[in-house]
Amino acid sequence: MPETSDPTALKNVPASGRVHVVGAGPVGLLLTALLQSMEGFSVRLYEKRHEYTRTRMVQLAPYLVADSVESYRTDSIDGDSVEAIFDPLELDQGLAFRQSIPSDLMALLNNWTLGFCPLNAIERSISDLIDARGSRVERTAAVVTAEDAIAMLEPGDVLIDSTGNRSLLRDHLVPGSSEVNEGANTLKFRLEYALVITFLYGQPYDCNEHCKYYKNIENSHYKFIPMVHRTHYDGSVSHVTGIVNISAEDYEAMPSRFDGESLRSNFPRVAQSMDRFIDKIKEETHGEVLGDLEIVRIPLDLYRARNATSRQWLIAGPRDHPFASSPVFLAGDSAVGSPYFQSISLGFECAMYLAGLITQRDLPLGEMLDRYELYTYKQWLRVYMRSKMIKHNKDLFETLDDPLALLDKLHIY
Ligand SMILES: Cc1cc2nc3c(=O)[nH]c(=O)nc-3n(C[C@H](O)[C@H](O)[C@H](O)COP(=O)(O)OP(=O)(O)OC[C@H]3O[C@@H](n4cnc5c(N)ncnc54)[C@H](O)[C@@H]3O)c2cc1C
Repeated sequence: MPETSDPTALKNVPASGRVHVVGAGPVGLLLTALLQSMEGFSVRLYEKRHEYTRTRMVQLAPYLVADSVESYRTDSIDGDSVEAIFDPLELDQGLAFRQSIPSDLMALLNNWTLGFCPLNAIERSISDLIDARGSRVERTAAVVTAEDAIAMLEPGDVLIDSTGNRSLLRDHLVPGSSEVNEGANTLKFRLEYALVITFLYGQPYDCNEHCKYYKNIENSHYKFIPMVHRTHYDGSVSHVTGIVNISAEDYEAMPSRFDGESLRSNFPRVAQSMDRFIDKIKEETHGEVLGDLEIVRIPLDLYRARNATSRQWLIAGPRDHPFASSPVFLAGDSAVGSPYFQSISLGFECAMYLAGLITQRDLPLGEMLDRYELYTYKQWLRVYMRSKMIKHNKDLFETLDDPLALLDKLHIY
């Protein structure tokens, strides 16, 4: 990054100062809990929601609590990518940071990598932990606008946008005309449209790759694909989540959330596929589906912010703009988003790195921004390769019974 020649420009994050975290979803909360326990920072957390109501079951990746490089790269899909993308020193530093995470927070992370838990349980637990600790975090319940965020900054403040995939500030990180150009700072690939379907089943149900195939054998379209490791038996019920690929037209015709009854009335072909799949589970284990299906329609987008920090403002922006003197970072879904259920882990990974950077007070500001850019870029490469591979495998799976279609998709050489 070119050095700024302005002698008044901020060179370092001050030894003590305010950190504004906008958005108290899982990633904003984790960042707050990490920074709260570090000397010298006063953290202000802004959130527009009054309650944590998202009950979808999520699981965190075991690499978040890895204590060795081997355990960091055990994932069968991206273990090699980790080694290819990250320097050994970087991996060691990441692991060392994990060791410094306070035990109250680490205990929660450990727990969430073991099995499924509702998203709002993660949010509530971190939020309660923040409140229960002695050091105060100033909370503001409000919808923050981009103008508010810019106005709240004093020189030396740090601003973190963790407002999720419709990021508040992503498009503001590129200096230019006064008009904010929506999408200007976003690189996005739409991989597919999907229904995420969740149900509870009153017996143990374990899924593997064979099960995905055989239980869909009569479903030429709308195959229900439970994610491997996305079924979880808690001693009395199995939580099953999977996705069904749908067309853009289906997507347009569907409400954003609905249930099995509505699916049956309005989209009978998808409902029949689900019935056939579930009947096969029942044949094996003689259980029943408890309650109704929960269905969410989502586009599966793989995207990243081309700039995950305000470094363009440091390089080329007008000096009197607050972003030229206060570093801004995107974290979580604000910065990078990936389908196939890995985003929270990715967001947590980047949040840990960011918290570690912000506390390195002797680090020149430009370098801090560059390092975060590089790190999020590497995490992006990792998740990009992983997601493309999953999507490719899914495409092959959809055509397994049609050898010619399958061969068309195999780019062997
Ligand atoms: C159906 C479905 C299933 C999923 N399953 C999984 C899974 O199993 N595993 C996984 O890792 N991921 C999963 N994900 C993705 C996961 O939910 C997101 O990656 C995660 O919630 C992102 O966390 P975040 O904190 O970055 O953003 P968010 O969770 O979006 O949080 C952003 C927060 O900012 C607040 N906010 C936004 N704008 C403002 C504003 N202007 N002012 C104040 N506050 C604001 C919001 O209210 C919210 O609390 C799933 C997503 C979907 C849709």
